[in-house]
Amino acid sequence: MSNLIVTGGAGFIGANFVHHWRKVAPGDRIVVLDALTYAGNRANLDGLDGVELVEGDICHTDLVSELLESRDIDTIVHFAAESHVDRSITGPDAFVTTNVLGTHSLLKAAKTAWLDKGSGRPHRFHHVSTDEVYGSLGPSDPAFSETTPYAPNSPYSASKAGSDHLVRAYHHTFGLETTTSNCSNNYGPFQFPEKLIPLFTLNALSGRALPIYGDGMNVRDWLHVEDHCYGIELILKKGRIGETYNIGGGQELPNIEVIAEICRGVDAAFAADPGLAARFPDAPAAQGRASVELKSYVTDRKGHDRRYAIDETKIRSELGYAPKRDFPQGFTETLNWYLKREDWWRPLLIRAALAA
Ligand code: NAD
Repeated sequence: MSNLIVTGGAGFIGANFVHHWRKVAPGDRIVVLDALTYAGNRANLDGLDGVELVEGDICHTDLVSELLESRDIDTIVHFAAESHVDRSITGPDAFVTTNVLGTHSLLKAAKTAWLDKGSGRPHRFHHVSTDEVYGSLGPSDPAFSETTPYAPNSPYSASKAGSDHLVRAYHHTFGLETTTSNCSNNYGPFQFPEKLIPLFTLNALSGRALPIYGDGMNVRDWLHVEDHCYGIELILKKGRIGETYNIGGGQELPNIEVIAEICRGVDAAFAADPGLAARFPDAPAAQGRASVELKSYVTDRKGHDRRYAIDETKIRSELGYAPKRDFPQGFTETLNWYLKREDWWRPLLIRAALAA
């Protein structure tokens, strides 16, 4: 049995991980440490027994130290971050504070509790990072492997790269038992509707434009969040200390193909369920038209990376990882979740409209 702190566990991937871990290790103690920024949501943890949510900032080392001691924590799974590239372009400070200084705060507290106080207990600091730290690929470049040199291009990816280096240094210098995973673009339940898939899905349901950056040919690898959580589970259980593992979905797609799949999926859902037209009367699909009509090309994001691709040979061969879904299947599951959970996303849209 383990006692875990999951930082950022009220956010998208963190909450999915908490749900996942509850299923695979029901006896473990889970403390979620989350500052509940705009991206954090208590409702993401609804229905989970025995999960303690502590509202707090990872930058507060004393708070983290107190939790490590009082809850007898032996494992930190670190998701908390500022995570949206567009926001890092308009306001990079929060990214440096949370992603770099916040990660360092956690590392310091973990070192004190697990090494300096000399308990000698087995422990783990697992750091969740991104493939964006590797930079941008040309059309025929080989996919990112764990040995690809770092070349972050946005304030977001630069701050994540900084945090990755600190985790590596705390292992190398002090012997902290760390692992790191760098994953591709996630999608699935509980994703805040500022990221491509939930944003475009909800826009298609409400007849709003689908704003495509540049020529829409930026390529990403798409990973269903549940497959990502499974990858992290394997690393926690069998990963080698001090190592880094890439986690991908094996679904490299240009944005315009992802958007085409979203439009196809929404149109098919309306065709299969006539009740959707009454619930979402502004959707083109409710009026017998195609969602693809909503496509609208907008000025490209500054410094927009062209292509990311993940070589996941290491986690496949060492830990037996394989994603369980392709993109069409994963998107259908995700669309069905958003259609069912209007109670989850409607208040977020209202809150975002009021804040604008
Ligand atoms: P998210 O933005 O949905 O959630 C982040 C969570 O962290 C929120 O609950 C927020 O309240 C919390 N948080 C932010 N600042 C905090 C602070 N100072 N102290 C405590 N909590 C704080 O992010 P996500 O998409 O779930 O991403 C989780 C992790 O995975 C991040 O580290 C991100 O860099 C990484 N990642 C995400 C993706 C993706 O596609 N979403 C891809 C690769 C890597």
